[in-house]
Amino acid sequence: MNVELFNKYSAELIAWNKKFNLTSITDPVEIKKKHFEDSLLILQSLHLSIESVVDIGAGAGFPGIPLKLACPNIKLTLIEATKKKVEFLQHIIKTLGLTEAEAVWTRAEEFAKDHREAFDLAVARAVADLRVLSELCLPLVKVGGFFIAYKEEKIETEVAQADKAIETLGGRLKEVRKFPARSLVIIEKTSPTPAKYPRRPGMAKKRPL
Ligand code: SAM
Repeated sequence: MNVELFNKYSAELIAWNKKFNLTSITDPVEIKKKHFEDSLLILQSLHLSIESVVDIGAGAGFPGIPLKLACPNIKLTLIEATKKKVEFLQHIIKTLGLTEAEAVWTRAEEFAKDHREAFDLAVARAVADLRVLSELCLPLVKVGGFFIAYKEEKIETEVAQADKAIETLGGRLKEVRKFPARSLVIIEKTSPTPAKYPRRPGMAKKRPL
């Protein structure tokens, strides 16, 4: 693991955060624990080698950028709806010299039009309720791939409520991995997502499946 690149990322995050509100966590020790280590928890469940990974609602780059730093061979796409966050992500990709990494200013619903079932893995942290998130993420995942949601510790009710949505979108709940203060909801894509999903921007939230 390239500690120098993690330190550089942390320093850039703190510097940009003085101009734009990118994160409420601004202490380097907390950034390491709550952003970097948290983002990397997935590696305890999954070995990432040459997979294509899409991070939906990446914000300031979590979990996508730490995963790219830990697993440089992955092909990373960061999707983010807020322009200033995308500008930060593009700056980070350039500053850290990351190859096979891009940040796209778009909404997941729009991005899905040209990138259906194109990724081995979709990840998302702190973006939406699991029913909504499943509609944003599962259409992008190849059959046989995975969608992993970073969720809070107590997740049972939200997972149960998302049961129908996950099935409708071609997924199957594989496992909920528990960590202190974090649950990873691991969903396998088992069949193609019906063409009508995702619906137009905002509909997944307005009328969750
Ligand atoms: N994943 C990051 C993290 O954990 O630090 C950022 C979390 S932030 C609370 C949620 C982000 O999701 C926001 O930056 C927002 O702009 C983005 N977002 C929400 N809905 C989205 C959508 N439909 N498509 C793309 N980005 C979206």
